[in-house]
Amino acid sequence: MLVDYHTHTPLCAHALGEPAEYVQRAAALGLAEIGISEHSPWMIQAPDEKLAPTDEEFAQVVDAVQALQRRHNHAASPLHVRLGIEMDFVPSRLHRARDYLAKYPWDYVIGSIHHLEKWGIDNPTYRAEYERRDLWQIYEEYFAAVRQMAETGLFDTIGHVDVIKKFGYRPAGDLRPLYDQLARTFEETGVVVEINTSGRDKDAREFYPAPPLLDALARAGVPITLGSDAHRPREVGRYFAEARALLLSLGIDKIVAFEARQRRFIPL
Ligand code: ZN
Ligand code: FE
Ligand code: FE
Ligand code: ZN
Repeated sequence: MLVDYHTHTPLCAHALGEPAEYVQRAAALGLAEIGISEHSPWMIQAPDEKLAPTDEEFAQVVDAVQALQRRHNHAASPLHVRLGIEMDFVPSRLHRARDYLAKYPWDYVIGSIHHLEKWGIDNPTYRAEYERRDLWQIYEEYFAAVRQMAETGLFDTIGHVDVIKKFGYRPAGDLRPLYDQLARTFEETGVVVEINTSGRDKDAREFYPAPPLLDALARAGVPITLGSDAHRPREVGRYFAEARALLLSLGIDKIVAFEARQRRFIPL
């Protein structure tokens, strides 16, 4: 059984397709669950940028998802719809995350990092910054922020855990000590990590997490779930057969499903 817990809506202004179309695609693929996980309204944005819905728009997302839940979430339905959110981890805006935790009946909350200070690390507009900075320093800073995010205990899952590689910039040398440290933090904080298959379609050309990081997570016993980070309905469930085979090859035969922020394992 597969779940896709990372999808978007047009209200973030960089995705297309209504939630109902994502759900339709999930049904066609035979997924057991699909979660809509729109970006949180407190995303850092330049004055001329729109990357996330406003609070009012987010309320519309919740309405749309709840309407789909009423239609699909009954015992005989092959597909269940979950209400998620991709919360932006901004240390100075953690109060916004806390407010939102209580605001809607989430099934799960993804924590993601899209900025180091004001720099949008996964935004193509600012990718030249990778040429200007030291890659080791960037990676260490990014993974330190990811550990800090896990340690808040506010989030159920970690989104695109090594998105810092998105544009293909990688420091020379062995990243495994950083990965091991990360896996230890996740194990200690009890957070789930998604295999986010969208990285395959970026310059990184591989899933988030990278194979050696996934390896470290598997050895540490960190639970895994799945997300396509679909910004188009056709991207729902992308490369999931491959992700499933990869997990099975590592001896992982179950993934995490969420309902009302309670987790349970379902067989792959
Ligand atoms: Zn997005
Ligand atoms: Fe993201
Ligand atoms: Fe996303
Ligand atoms: Zn994302």
